[in-house]
Amino acid sequence: MKNISRRSFVNKFSIGVGSAAVISTIPSFMVPLNESPLLYYGKKLNVAICGLGNYAEAIANGLQSTQYCSLSGIVTGTLSKAQAWKTKYNIPEKNIYNYTNFDDIINNKNIDLVYITLPNGMHKEFTIRAAKAGKHVITEKPMATSPQDCREMIKACNDASVQLAVGYRLHYEPTHLEIKRLGQDKVFGQVRYIEAALGYKTYDMTKPAQSVDFSGHAEWRLNQKLSGGGPLMDLGIYCIQASRYVLGEEPVAVTAQFGHVNDAKRFAQVEESISWQMHFPSGAMASCNTSVGFNADRFYASADEGSFELSPALSFGPFKGKTSNGEINFPVINQQQTQLDGICSVILENKPLPKHITGEEGLKDLTIIAAIYEAAQTGHNIII
Ligand code: NDP
Repeated sequence: MKNISRRSFVNKFSIGVGSAAVISTIPSFMVPLNESPLLYYGKKLNVAICGLGNYAEAIANGLQSTQYCSLSGIVTGTLSKAQAWKTKYNIPEKNIYNYTNFDDIINNKNIDLVYITLPNGMHKEFTIRAAKAGKHVITEKPMATSPQDCREMIKACNDASVQLAVGYRLHYEPTHLEIKRLGQDKVFGQVRYIEAALGYKTYDMTKPAQSVDFSGHAEWRLNQKLSGGGPLMDLGIYCIQASRYVLGEEPVAVTAQFGHVNDAKRFAQVEESISWQMHFPSGAMASCNTSVGFNADRFYASADEGSFELSPALSFGPFKGKTSNGEINFPVINQQQTQLDGICSVILENKPLPKHITGEEGLKDLTIIAAIYEAAQTGHNIII
């Protein structure tokens, strides 16, 4: 992402005064007083959540205690949810949109940022539409369903001089910051081997195989177009992320194998389980598993002079861990609140977001995911 200085951002929205629509997209916090970020003290970004499903509830909950942003708008295709959220969170009617009239948000000065919690296959469209409306974007992981879509999203946000973040909540979580430190600072020497697994058993194998109506909202994760893939997209991405940030390296090659399919009707379009191995420039390797047919939540790193591990490791926690020297013990935090404040405080200061939560980071994960699928489909070692 290009470096967005406060001046260039303000200029972007100040020139072309002939267009009322452009002027009206100046975010409410963008008061061009002088260059000191301290002048924005006390300002909050106004956030609209787009797609009011399960995770939107967690984001809304986080937004109840944030210091640098607040829940100000919603985008939903379900009328009953619009009514329920309006009442529950005191959202003004003028800040409520549906997927058809969403682009009108360009005229709404009271929304600065759109948080996208739609199915993966819709992230690209709504990121680009939000960027064109002059809104900053946080999109949930996985950023999109292909590397090419990620590139288009990054370009759209760069072109519009808005910032783009991916909802990588664990980059703000103290236990994960600690394993990142242990790995990258080589506290136990070079990490040589990682095991990571995240799986949720989401159906009953003792019951007959299901035939799934792919138009159903609840089953979008089984629909290739809406999900981009199975548990690798949804859960395995945490194993990829943790391996990368503990090592501070990018994998150079992957091998992968699809797992056993217990329910062929349900998993007609996406995998039920997948195992993969990532090889890193230092010689380290990570062996990872993800599934919706079994439960797993574990991270283990073996280094030259010791080891560290978490279990639970990659879900919502609370996380529990130890090193070869003792316990890893950090307070439980509200992950969504911490992530939102972390991102919004940087945007309020008009500084570029840290690279590890931007669209470029999302693109790296999607590039690795594409290589893992190719490896599983071909049986080859795929060089990244
Ligand atoms: P849900 O199915 O619970 O919610 C998705 C919402 O998107 C729906 O409720 C609906 O909201 C809207 N929607 C619009 N069109 C469709 C469609 N065709 N099919 C289904 N839903 C549609 O999903 P989640 O909240 O679990 O996941 C949403 C995103 O958040 C995903 O990208 C997922 O990977 C990510 N996620 C991230 C987590 C994290 O820890 N960072 C945890 C869980 C999910 P409406 O009725 O308002 O239109």
